[in-house]
Amino acid sequence: MKSNVPEIFGSMVFNDAIMRDKLPKDIYRSLKKTIETGNKLDINVANVVAIAMKDWAIEKGATHYTHWFQPMTGITAEKHDSFISPQNDGRVIMEFSGKELIKGEPDASSFPSGGIRATFEARGYTAWDPTSYAFVKDGTLCIPTAFCSYGGESLDKKTPMLRSMETLNEQALRILKLFGNDSVKRVNTTVGPEQEYFLIDRSLYEKRKDLIYCDRTLFGARPPKGQELDDHYFGAIKPRVQAFMKELNEELWKLGILAKTEHNEAAPAQHEMAPIFDTGNIAIDHNQITMEVMKNVAKRHKFICLLHEKPFEGVNGSGKHNNWSMVTDNGVNLLEPGSSPRENAQFLLFLTAIIKAVDDYQDLLRLSIASAGNDHRLGAAEAPPAIMSIFVGDDLELVLDSIEKGTDFDNPSSVKMDIGVSVLPKLPKDTTDRNRTSPFAFTGNKFEFRSCGSSMSVAGANTILNTIVAESLKQFADELEEAKNFNQALDKLIKTTIKEHRRIIFNGDGYSKEWEEEAEKRGLLNLKTTVDAIPMYLEEKNIKLFTEHKIFNEVEIRSRYEIELEAYSKIINIEALTAIDMCKKEILPAVNKYIGQLSRTVLDKRSIDLGKNMSSELSCNMEIDLIRLLSNLEDKAYYEVNKLERELIDIGKLDEGDKLAIAKYYKDKVIATMNDLRKYVDQMESNCDKEVWPLPSYGEMLFSV
Ligand code: ADP
Ligand code: MG
Repeated sequence: MKSNVPEIFGSMVFNDAIMRDKLPKDIYRSLKKTIETGNKLDINVANVVAIAMKDWAIEKGATHYTHWFQPMTGITAEKHDSFISPQNDGRVIMEFSGKELIKGEPDASSFPSGGIRATFEARGYTAWDPTSYAFVKDGTLCIPTAFCSYGGESLDKKTPMLRSMETLNEQALRILKLFGNDSVKRVNTTVGPEQEYFLIDRSLYEKRKDLIYCDRTLFGARPPKGQELDDHYFGAIKPRVQAFMKELNEELWKLGILAKTEHNEAAPAQHEMAPIFDTGNIAIDHNQITMEVMKNVAKRHKFICLLHEKPFEGVNGSGKHNNWSMVTDNGVNLLEPGSSPRENAQFLLFLTAIIKAVDDYQDLLRLSIASAGNDHRLGAAEAPPAIMSIFVGDDLELVLDSIEKGTDFDNPSSVKMDIGVSVLPKLPKDTTDRNRTSPFAFTGNKFEFRSCGSSMSVAGANTILNTIVAESLKQFADELEEAKNFNQALDKLIKTTIKEHRRIIFNGDGYSKEWEEEAEKRGLLNLKTTVDAIPMYLEEKNIKLFTEHKIFNEVEIRSRYEIELEAYSKIINIEALTAIDMCKKEILPAVNKYIGQLSRTVLDKRSIDLGKNMSSELSCNMEIDLIRLLSNLEDKAYYEVNKLERELIDIGKLDEGDKLAIAKYYKDKVIATMNDLRKYVDQMESNCDKEVWPLPSYGEMLFSV
């Protein structure tokens, strides 16, 4: 069958081309202006847009519409309303007004708010983000919206992201003006999130409560083969997976998502999809849709798509590399080093602003990627550690070195002239030997933030990134705008910034033990777990940053602090309950059954009449050994299950309002007990008959597709 990609691409999106086609000229122009400037949309314009949108959506098979939003749960939410409106004569017509388009009032009481929303004012409201196009998905017109409380506090991930794009735009424009770029009207961020995921057979998934309830395996002995042969990475894609990817691509293309590359990842059954980058908020919306579509398409192919950061112990987990840059409305990438001295100087200023930002706000960057799931992955064998650092590559490091020391790049013994006059040496783009162990790597014309977890919305990471870079740029602009001699001031600023923040640059092996020690000597933070990271919200310098840039007010910061701690505790609680349930109802009874079988075999063997001439009994060494081993393990596991139960009861005795103490308890006690329990269970699995083991094995799940 011939597929016509250009024809299907964006066919389910109310995009610019459709708007131009369907809207009267003046309405289109007015909407376009709103999109470009972020100004309020006039209700008369909204009314006309709503009707055009509805008619178009009905053509695409829609009967309902929804405000599509991104609450703090990290997934998207929708409440469907149909277009139908009853008439006096018993018939219905399809209606959709401007008011319904720009504002929704979902009953929001069940979304996490961290205490912002008292129950008496349970309603929140959603407001259209016209910079992100509406689309039709599963018969519903979806309108991307922000979600706020009645008091105007943000209850979602989109609002702070949009605010952070605004502040970055404002500060970057100030810098560009200083370099004489007066024609630039807007600076946006660009984001390209590479999505990793696992595909496993649905019938196996259904037999594992841990996967069903927790999205990750809580038990599972190592299979004889893992990923040590590296034979999966970029390997030939199996036909069943190929069919899944083909449908996934088509579904994403229809929704205007630029799915571009796909390949097998390092672990068996692991894959990756990378889209072509887009404007920050749009790329984030698209990534949220991508995750949802992946899960749905997987089901149609009798797969389950696992987005958890670490579904399987002992093989690589999944991340989401967040490629990030800044671009002007003229299409100039501000992290492109350029070829003229002026361009180079401007590039170096933006680069040092980022270096400074990452160093000053290591804690916030770490916080932005913190989750119970990502804790399993960070610092394991396949992901950067919890320490934030920047990789710039040897060539650029040499440049920064020589700027700091005031020497020439090519000839370190001779003295160099001012920045703004000299030309950078050609920097190789995306060198193939690039360092993949760095959390934050410069890759030629963009940065790649590799610490993001596969299941999380990248809105959090990008909000922080935009905000901290905006803060550096603001400080730079404040200083440079006052300068009498711009070139001299620029030179000095870049030099001192490199000197002050040099410690955050690390080009070596981020996975090594030595780096942890070295980082400690450099005074870099190492916030190992989510529970260590979340309190950073409340650091004075961070509250100041958020409030000054109007990303969060203090109430919003508090609420996020609470919501995130609570989410962490809830996840561990579900995992612990699932572990207990699986042990009591499936694992321990199965082991017991096997011990029973072995015992009966011993009795049977002993009761066989071997006749007069046989002097000794039949040997039962194996059975007795296994009975002893498994009985021992079973007892130990049972002990841990009881301990886990007691711990969950003890949590109830902690002060309910002290979310940090509760999260700490889960981290220090509950997780430790779960780890002990797992050890015994995995040993039992390795020593049990496959016929009696109640769960599909790692080998089956990872290699059966
Ligand atoms: P790799 O796996 O080597 O990192 P990929 O091709 O898988 O490379 O992913 C690179 C990602 O970076 C793509 O999503 C791409 O669109 C994105 N990207 C490229 N240029 C930019 C940019 N200027 N800003 C943001 N993202 C970008
Ligand atoms: Mg990458």
